[in-house]
Amino acid sequence: MNKKKYIGIDIGGTAVKIGSVDEDGTIHATETYAVNFDGYETPILQTVVKSCHNFLEKYRENASEYAGIGVSATGAISTKKGVVEGTAGHIKNWINSPIRQVMEQEFHIPTEVLNDANAAALGEAWIGAAKGKKDVVVVTIGTGVGGGILMNGKILLGASGFAGELGHIPVQYEGEMCTCGNRGCLEHYGSTSALVRKVRWAIQEGAIAGAADTPVDGRWIFAQAATGNVVVQKILQEWIEVIASALVGFVHMFNPEQILIGGGVSAQEDLFIAPVRSYVMKHVMPNFAKDLEICAAALKNEAGMVGAVYYCIQQERACDC
Ligand SMILES: [Zn+2]
Repeated sequence: MNKKKYIGIDIGGTAVKIGSVDEDGTIHATETYAVNFDGYETPILQTVVKSCHNFLEKYRENASEYAGIGVSATGAISTKKGVVEGTAGHIKNWINSPIRQVMEQEFHIPTEVLNDANAAALGEAWIGAAKGKKDVVVVTIGTGVGGGILMNGKILLGASGFAGELGHIPVQYEGEMCTCGNRGCLEHYGSTSALVRKVRWAIQEGAIAGAADTPVDGRWIFAQAATGNVVVQKILQEWIEVIASALVGFVHMFNPEQILIGGGVSAQEDLFIAPVRSYVMKHVMPNFAKDLEICAAALKNEAGMVGAVYYCIQQERACDC
């Protein structure tokens, strides 16, 4: 019997990735299409529909050969309604996009929609570092801080599908303004952007000699820490403690068997993952630490696309019984 296959779609702020994914998680083909070629004057959803038609045409396929469409999308996504209900980056023509309704009308196959961080967490649970695990917290550290919580193998969606916004947990009462409108969020202090911002300040203040013309990014910061730059090491250490202390809270809240850390910085095992792990293990109540594993996420750019497909499959199973 032929394996069932699904269309996986990952909609980001700059591009949409479309792929053909088997029911066992094997990715057969992927294509990427730009979505901001005209400053979003063409609504993203319109571009996604057109790109999906182009994808099917390119591989000489028909939507009816697919069992469903799984969409991972940026923004506050109501999984219940399949609609974009909010956007942090103020993307034009994106709020209120009825993704599920439009995709089902256009392609006549069941469509599920969830936010990119929740989709990525499901991707890890299906074919990534959380494979076989049921209770997992996934935290992604990048320009922002994203999250997804798996409870008993299911993604925690909350009432609408917004749950898991781990980056917007306040870690500093009356702290600095966050892009979400609140103050003191984890994202403002624990994102890679926050780390870069702190190091840039130190350079401006003359605390790091000979770096005035350096274009600072995460890679440069970790390279400096590795070669013994004590000012950078201190900033890095503080940043790690912000993240790790938030993780301590998540451990006590969800009692996970695993915490996965994603994003570019998660490749830094010795300078990032290991110190985060040792801080968390030291600060959680001992019974929570016993079977807790903390490691880097495995999937890179495909996590959201694959995870959205897995969500489709889980929904089918839920319907069958
Ligand atoms: Zn916030």
